[in-house]
Amino acid sequence: RPLIELRNVTKAFHTAGRGTITALDGIDLTVDAGDVFAIIGYSGAGKSTLVRLVNALEHVTSGQVIVDGTDLTTLGERRLREVRRGIGMIFQQFNLLRSRTVFGNVAYPLKIAGWSKPEIEKRVAELLKFVGILDRAWHYPDQLSGGQKQRVGIARALATNPKILLADESTSALDPETTADVLRLLKRVNTELGVTIMVITHEMEVVREIADRVAVLDSGRIIEQGDVLDVFADP
Ligand code: ADP
Ligand code: ADP
Repeated sequence: RPLIELRNVTKAFHTAGRGTITALDGIDLTVDAGDVFAIIGYSGAGKSTLVRLVNALEHVTSGQVIVDGTDLTTLGERRLREVRRGIGMIFQQFNLLRSRTVFGNVAYPLKIAGWSKPEIEKRVAELLKFVGILDRAWHYPDQLSGGQKQRVGIARALATNPKILLADESTSALDPETTADVLRLLKRVNTELGVTIMVITHEMEVVREIADRVAVLDSGRIIEQGDVLDVFADP
């Protein structure tokens, strides 16, 4: 069964200056467990809004968002917080805590989840090793390159073992080459850790390499969805 499913989802924003904006219009989409699902499309197509609906950072105007069998649109804030704990999210702007080291940033969600100090130390070391920045554990975010910061963000997002990782790599806080490296790391997260991944990206060449399925968004609608090899098949 699908791990993530959107059924006839519409999302409208009511703005002061621009009236009502329909960011998503009748979206049907399914992501199977174990997939890397890429979302592509021009700026303003609705990609970020779509991903934000999956961890209920936004709420639908109509339709259903079903994650791991649960319809999020029926849940209250308390249950949504529980659902969010099973979903990791990485952000374009990294959102790291500047006053904490790499170790401290990755340990943070584990502290909140009530892990013991020895458990946290073991888990953080394991995560930093996986993303390849164990040697930067005692650096602060300002001492890291963009690619390194994003690796910390990925380690932090994975800390509590989420089933799903949402990644917005759409705007270029990182250069294309570093973005490609991050996308390849996401592929390893998928294949080696079994995490289902939804990723927004502009790096089309890398999409072919890392994604199983792809949806193309345009003005709030899906204009194509399917296996990456079919969607990108040469005509
Ligand atoms: P993308 O990620 O593809 O660039 P977005 O999902 O960010 O697209 O935005 C889709 C549309 O919805 C855009 O027209 C954008 O201006 C609008 N939008 C997104 N978020 C908001 C918001 N919080 N308030 C008003 N309009 C928004
Ligand atoms: P990456 O392989 O992640 O792209 P870089 O080659 O950009 O890393 O950076 C190499 C080294 O320079 C890293 O050890 C990093 O800590 C340091 N570095 C890169 N950018 C900055 C920066 N803006 N401020 C401080 N140190 C930096």
